[in-house]
Amino acid sequence: MVETLPAVHDENRQGEAYAPFALDENIYQKKFYIESYGCQMNFSDSEIVASILQGEGFGATRNYLEADLVLLNTCSIREKAEQTIRKRLTEFRKVKDARPGMLVGVLGCMAERLKAKLLEEEKLVDMVVGPDAYRTLPGLIEEAETGQKAVNVLLSRDETYADISPVRLESNGVSAFISIMRGCNNMCSFCVVPFTRGRERSRDAFSIIAEAKDLFARGFKEVTLLGQNVDSYYWVPPSPEGELKASSDFSGNFGSAAVTFANLLEMVAQVSPELRVRFSTSHPKDITEDVLLTMAKYENICKYIHLPVQSGSSRVLQLMNRTYTREWYMAKVDQIKKIMPDCGISSDVISGFCTETEEDHQDTLSIMQYSGYDMSYMFFYSERPGTLAARRYTDDIPLDVKKRRLQEIVELQGKLSLASNKQDIGKTFKVLIEGESKKSADDWMGRNTQNKVIVFAKNNTPLQKGDYVWVKVNDCTQATLLGEMVNN
Ligand code: SAM
Ligand code: SF4
Repeated sequence: MVETLPAVHDENRQGEAYAPFALDENIYQKKFYIESYGCQMNFSDSEIVASILQGEGFGATRNYLEADLVLLNTCSIREKAEQTIRKRLTEFRKVKDARPGMLVGVLGCMAERLKAKLLEEEKLVDMVVGPDAYRTLPGLIEEAETGQKAVNVLLSRDETYADISPVRLESNGVSAFISIMRGCNNMCSFCVVPFTRGRERSRDAFSIIAEAKDLFARGFKEVTLLGQNVDSYYWVPPSPEGELKASSDFSGNFGSAAVTFANLLEMVAQVSPELRVRFSTSHPKDITEDVLLTMAKYENICKYIHLPVQSGSSRVLQLMNRTYTREWYMAKVDQIKKIMPDCGISSDVISGFCTETEEDHQDTLSIMQYSGYDMSYMFFYSERPGTLAARRYTDDIPLDVKKRRLQEIVELQGKLSLASNKQDIGKTFKVLIEGESKKSADDWMGRNTQNKVIVFAKNNTPLQKGDYVWVKVNDCTQATLLGEMVNN
């Protein structure tokens, strides 16, 4: 039975399994296997979990058949995400039957949403651990090893894991994510995140800068500052004594003033002009002119903003509790283009939210056209238990209508991406090489500041990943720019 399962992770699956840490020479008595689902925040959290487990003598493996501890870091954002986890658990049941000593833990948003109910529903699960409870994993593992079920789903008002250095498990060695805040206070009516990840809290700016410096010293060339709503980052330095303690390896001076997202961006940009800085996600209502001006001021802050619109209809936006109108969003796009004419913009779009009419749907298509997104993540609405929308509105758009509208959104985005890429033909971009092209070992793959993927021939030049090169675009597909290296 067990042999029929692929023991090694399939790269194309969402649930990415992390490889053992590069250059780790430690010998571990026990092994853990972790798969991550959902948003980048979860992938980043898995690196914190790995760091905690490493401290407890667990080494990472990519083969769950040899793991003492199997962890799934889960997502609840749509029903389908939870179904995927349930299916995966059924597969692990067969492995556990063959190896009863193996512990199975569910982490992340689904653990938080379902709590102990998950233990009743999924008998093979030994541990249920919410996103703010990872520090307690060692104790929970001990408890589970005695045969008891272990649960900690307490949400915290201040946990940011600021002092834990994440272990970069699955990294190209060039770009890394830095979590700058946790939780969300926004209460968009469709969204389960405020319930699964708790109140918003910002991480100590000293520790963020220290992490960026450390990554740069280790050869990383790009960091992405991560949060559900990065523009509401706000951190007040502690008392002078605390400040000294926290800043032992930081030479900057915050004084006693609060640090806003614009300040933080600037400080990370100043780590080195060779370190690219990105961030995600921005809520349109919170991205300030200060942030845009800071982006424009520093060449190494990438000219790319992920600015989810969700819907183009002011009526639907109001029901979604997004707190902006269609016109307000369009004015924000205008402001971005005015300050940074070359700035790339991408979006998240939801089709078929409660009461959405054909006219509302047309408004979504037209705002996509207006904004000229380079890329979008597109979904049909999936009602999530406990959210404001689930409590207040009826999920009244039939599935086939939601799917047809989504299809139209996807098709339009395809056209917009192609049009945007075609406009780049003939232009020359500074590209950060991320690695070899998946399709050919003769080509490099990298990104420009707008986050577009560019593929170009190596031409036997002595380059390596992490190098910057100038590339002239000669051709494109919907997803990729194709070019050649040039001297600049
Ligand atoms: N905080 C980010 C924001 O506000 O854009 C990201 C939140 S969520 C992890 C990513 C995206 O999932 C959302 O922007 C939204 O488009 C989509 N999403 C969230 N809840 C959804 C639901 N119930 N049904 C369909 N899509 C949903
Ligand atoms: Fe969810 Fe809205 Fe918060 Fe994004 S901003 S995580 S969509 S509640």
